Amino acid sequence: MGSKEEIWEGVLGELEITLSRPNFNTWFKDTFIVDIKNNGKKVIVGVPNTFTLEWLENKYSEEIKKTLRKFIPEISDLEFQVAHLEKTSEETEEKEEKPLKHFEFKAPQKFSKTKDLNPYFTFQNFVVGESNRFAHAAALAVAKQPGKSYNPLFIYGGVGLGKTHLVQAIAWEIKKLFPQKKILYFSFERFATDFINHVKAGKMEEFKKKYREVDVLLVDDIQFISGKERTQDEFFHTFNNLYQNQKQIVLTSDRPPKSIPLLEERLRSRFEWGMIVDIAPPDYETRLAILKHKSEERNLNLPQKILEFIARQIQNNIRELEGALNKIEAYVSLTQKELTLAQTKKLLESLIKTKKTVDPEKIIKTICEYYQIAKKELLSHKREQRLALPRQVIMYLLRHEFNYSFPKIAEILNRKDHTTVIYGCGKIEKELNNNSLIKRDIDTIKQRLMLY
Ligand code: ADP
Ligand code: MG
Repeated sequence: MGSKEEIWEGVLGELEITLSRPNFNTWFKDTFIVDIKNNGKKVIVGVPNTFTLEWLENKYSEEIKKTLRKFIPEISDLEFQVAHLEKTSEETEEKEEKPLKHFEFKAPQKFSKTKDLNPYFTFQNFVVGESNRFAHAAALAVAKQPGKSYNPLFIYGGVGLGKTHLVQAIAWEIKKLFPQKKILYFSFERFATDFINHVKAGKMEEFKKKYREVDVLLVDDIQFISGKERTQDEFFHTFNNLYQNQKQIVLTSDRPPKSIPLLEERLRSRFEWGMIVDIAPPDYETRLAILKHKSEERNLNLPQKILEFIARQIQNNIRELEGALNKIEAYVSLTQKELTLAQTKKLLESLIKTKKTVDPEKIIKTICEYYQIAKKELLSHKREQRLALPRQVIMYLLRHEFNYSFPKIAEILNRKDHTTVIYGCGKIEKELNNNSLIKRDIDTIKQRLMLY
């Protein structure tokens, strides 16, 4: 048996071959063997943070054990532990390439700046589409020039749409570009509890120091500030202090500042000083792109048809898309079988059932109201442009939002031939790429149908 270092290098060498590169780089960076116990029966692996710990434990524990067994045949028990390795001085500047040589084990650090950041939440892993393009661009601008572009940057959007991912991506990027800058990321709830604890302990000076002596303050879920009077007061001073010193502030929220109830006016106006951007629910194209990215990353070779099916069916948010992929990944790794479309439908049944369904009559009514035409006109065969567009839009919605078949859509719209429907859907798909008016129409109609 070699040394701990040699064994782990061997294990990583093997894993690197079987895993995709982004996966490997994300999850195995800064890992090492902390200890080998009970004559090799138990191996403890050190990981840099709790996110990595959970991820490795859930996803790779078997794989790692299997690989370790080649070096330590006795192993039966694998444990992960948050721990940091110390590099020798001449290596501190060296990164990426040789993280695994000549280190000594050091007890877990009490305060590590990255411990609250998910290593996966980087710009590299953030798929950009229509729904988040603007938020992404603003976040990137802030990361490139902290304190100098938009201040504060306020990002809002519904649950599971990527706010936490984006704000943490800012943190990782600033760390990379400006390693000397001090970054503090936390959710507002933590700020509130921390504040109360410091007040109780009579340590307000310490609190002020902690939150005011930073270059970048990233606050997730600021909506929880609502109604907390004393904490609002403290946050107001923190904000002013940083702002005056041109320190970057980024806030995320599930709603815009004006809709946060019980928020002092002086704070609300400050939240609106810089740039406000929203993240919308992902459209079909973005959902498809995200699925592609995530399935490739997990080495799931899913056929395009299956990806399209999932993208059509699962529409609410990105967390649900990930949920769908988790189910599929579990199935594929258990059965080692090729996944069919029918099997996918079955697997995702529970997720799809929760999808809102809308009666076609209601869609017709909504479209007619929106375009100010009569139902009779919509279903007629008149060829006027003012009727053709609403017809194509409804075809598109029935197809992409409700997954109706082309013949069924033809039937709903009183058409004999479903090739008209295929043509209509294709036309709108194309238009969506270069006609923002149509996109706005469709977004508004979807909102009215409560699809968001
Ligand atoms: P929120 O904070 O808005 O509730 P999160 O940032 O936690 O949402 O995102 C939920 C999940 O979806 C995360 O796993 C995140 O990585 C993923 N996700 C969100 N947006 C994207 C995107 N544009 N590209 C890739 N993954 C995304
Ligand atoms: Mg979040």
